[in-house]
Amino acid sequence: MHFKFWGVRGSIPAPGPKTVHYGGNTTCIEVRGENNELLILDGGTGIFPLGQSLIPEFPLKVHIFITHTHWDHIQGLPMFLPIFVPGNEVTIHGAADPITQRDIGEVLARQMEYAYFPVREAELNASMSYLNIQEGQSVQVGGVNVRSMLLNHPVLNFGYRLECEGKVFVFTGDHEWPYNIYNKQDPDYPDYQQMVDEQRSRVLEFFSDADVLVIDTAYTEAEYPSRKGWGHGTFASSIEAAREAGVKRVFLTHHEPTRSDADLEVAFDEARKSLGVGREGDPQFELAQEGLLIEI
Ligand SMILES: [Zn+2]
Ligand SMILES: [Zn+2]
Repeated sequence: MHFKFWGVRGSIPAPGPKTVHYGGNTTCIEVRGENNELLILDGGTGIFPLGQSLIPEFPLKVHIFITHTHWDHIQGLPMFLPIFVPGNEVTIHGAADPITQRDIGEVLARQMEYAYFPVREAELNASMSYLNIQEGQSVQVGGVNVRSMLLNHPVLNFGYRLECEGKVFVFTGDHEWPYNIYNKQDPDYPDYQQMVDEQRSRVLEFFSDADVLVIDTAYTEAEYPSRKGWGHGTFASSIEAAREAGVKRVFLTHHEPTRSDADLEVAFDEARKSLGVGREGDPQFELAQEGLLIEI
């Protein structure tokens, strides 16, 4: 299995000279199985250049797994070239929205309504399929097994665990570690804490023994208090979780759009120092970077 980052930025694209090293496109990862099966995780703006790169493979079959439907994870989909070309088979997997009862196809079709985009979903020339994923469900794409898990974010967000020939790749999408909303003196504190602990254990189990974990690491510890509840992780929360789960290699992603390449490296260095990264048994930690191709 191997994968390539096409978008590593969170919230909104951040192009320009200050982000040219790590990249300005929003979330998108290309994954290939051992038989060259093509899977794509999220359709942020990074899926646009990915679509262009796929022209030599037309007609193709692609399975796109959407973690959740916030703009930064779907905004590139209407410009994904394979959907316009007859003969291509595009299957999009994602969660139905429990609030509006809309399935994944409906939610995505709405961003192609005429007020937002000139081509309607019904006019796409590729063969399009939409499959609603349930929590814990496994989907087989050739030799790649994809299992979902609900993670903590303001909208339904599925993390995906991909397994192929004994190798494991995990992507969180957007995730904030659950925390206790009560004060320690409050009678509801212990029950809530038990729920928080159980959820953390389940997520660590989902990450366990991954060869590669790509994890939402939007904030520094200094930024986090004013952004608590926004649904994102921090350098410390990601580093600690990866250690606990016994992950081998970790890519920190969903970089803040306001953070320049230099600022991102400073934030990463400070976190590594304060958490003593590099000690015996530690995973290998890296910043996700657009264009990076990794063999697992
Ligand atoms: Zn996001
Ligand atoms: Zn989000």
